Amino acid sequence: MIEKDPIKRVLYIDLTKKKFWIEERPELFSEFIGGTGVAIKLLEENCPPEIHPFSPDNPIIFAIGPLNGVFPIASKTVAMFKSPHTGNLGESHAGGRSALSIRMAGYGAVIIKGKSERPCYISIYSDKVFFRDATTLWGLDEGLSAARLIREREPGAGLRTIIRIGPAGEKLISYACATLETYRHFGRLGLGAVFGSKNLKAVLIAGKRNLPVTDFKEYKQIYIELVKQLRESEKMKKYHELGTPANILPLSFSKGLPVKNLLTNEMQGVENISGELFAAKHLGRRVACAHCPVACVHLAALRKPYEDEPYFYRTIYLSYDYELIYALGSMLGISDSVDILKLIEIVEDMGVDAMSTGVALAWMTEAFQKGIITEKHTEEISPQWGNAEGYIEIVKKIVYSEGEFYKDLGKGVDYVSEKYGGKDFALIYGKNEMPGYHTGPAAHIGYLFGARHSHLDSAGYSIDTKSMTKSITAEQLVENILEEEQWRQIISSLVICFFGREVYTQKMILKCLKLSGYELNDKDLLRIGREIYANKYKFKVNCGFNLENVNLPKRVFEIPSSIGLINKDFTDRAIALLKEKIKSLL
Ligand code: SF4
Repeated sequence: MIEKDPIKRVLYIDLTKKKFWIEERPELFSEFIGGTGVAIKLLEENCPPEIHPFSPDNPIIFAIGPLNGVFPIASKTVAMFKSPHTGNLGESHAGGRSALSIRMAGYGAVIIKGKSERPCYISIYSDKVFFRDATTLWGLDEGLSAARLIREREPGAGLRTIIRIGPAGEKLISYACATLETYRHFGRLGLGAVFGSKNLKAVLIAGKRNLPVTDFKEYKQIYIELVKQLRESEKMKKYHELGTPANILPLSFSKGLPVKNLLTNEMQGVENISGELFAAKHLGRRVACAHCPVACVHLAALRKPYEDEPYFYRTIYLSYDYELIYALGSMLGISDSVDILKLIEIVEDMGVDAMSTGVALAWMTEAFQKGIITEKHTEEISPQWGNAEGYIEIVKKIVYSEGEFYKDLGKGVDYVSEKYGGKDFALIYGKNEMPGYHTGPAAHIGYLFGARHSHLDSAGYSIDTKSMTKSITAEQLVENILEEEQWRQIISSLVICFFGREVYTQKMILKCLKLSGYELNDKDLLRIGREIYANKYKFKVNCGFNLENVNLPKRVFEIPSSIGLINKDFTDRAIALLKEKIKSLL
């Protein structure tokens, strides 16, 4: 690490005492690089594993790495906390301006602990921290209004990030998200609810610094090479042109797109929700996270009429991607792109994770159809596949209803299926709802045993895709999952957007790290990745996560995937092997 690099500075904020202080932790950033590697060590230090996730002692940790602010597409921030959704490791990544703002403010990590007596937001301007009253922002019926008011009140336009919650976070919905820069999210595992439990409406961070590199000439060459690859390679062009919705049609054709709570893999009218259709009909503009030349964020323009003014409209912009079209479209049997956008709008307004919400709505629909829940539970609403208006009402009920069923649904599919029944079709993995890839065993095993229960842990869908052309043994599948997840610990310690992972090869990462003052070799990277992965798993286990208590949903084996029906014996064998491998690391 370069001596004068501020990456080693950690800002501690105590919301109870309204105090803050800065500590230098060079040993942490030398040993674990940054991002997820440093965040898990800070979580170990600051979060007693037995606490309730809504305890004031649950820390919110934001961490970045030495490449952020220096190299392109190193544009993400890691958030870590004890998850109110799963009861163990909470980890979520987001871009926007967050990483650059934390870096420019002069920190490698920010830790927020305690609980404010009244609603508040925090403004961090380099070495100064202000605790602002947010009483008037609390209870606004959508998160965007609060962000607008903070933007108007505070300086730092163009330099700042504003991370804020909506009504769902205030109401402690266990899958509430935190939103930043309007279109980006710390989506999964309930960071928004942890904000809410602390009476914390928002965090603003801004700063202006110069960052050091060891060799400016070499830096310039590498920087140019990276930008060229990120802008011109065919792979990266896909992210810019159609974005991840480009995957809707191929996944649907290969039977990997889950439809109606995975009752089927046949999406009627899939061409009406394809990436091509969204681009042709709705694309208003593309935006990028700060310091990213790719600009994969696709914004749809949705024209909305004013209720009492004929021929007057307002245009709102909504970000859409593959996961949203899956969770709020195919999963609910919705094949109208405008309906999907309306659902995206309500999910944005309420501040809930789109994937968990979509899967919760899908479970509810099937449970209703099977008579497991009735209109008595649903307050006279009848959920129906394809009925977007009905689903919009249900999302509002999840956040605002005082009724028992909706309060339960706000705790996730694991909770409701445990209480009301319907476990066989509860699409949950370690208590987290299913991502949108039914491609084969690797995807499902990856969700089940990934440290975050996310498709991004090991990208099992890509292992499945490769095994479509070349058969694979259970041993190879397990090796591939573990290797990928451990390597991803390095990417997310740096914190490079996963979309840039093929440009940032091991060789390229070592070159960039050298310019940031790290003398590491390829073996060091593999060792550090393995250690970070083990540290995350140890935290999960200390919180009570038991490898023996998680199972794949029965439904997964009933509906053919991209590779056909998933073989249960093969999957069981791979799971047994993976468990042994994980245990050996603990
Ligand atoms: S590729 Fe997309 S998500 Fe990744 S940093 Fe760039 S704009 Fe953000």
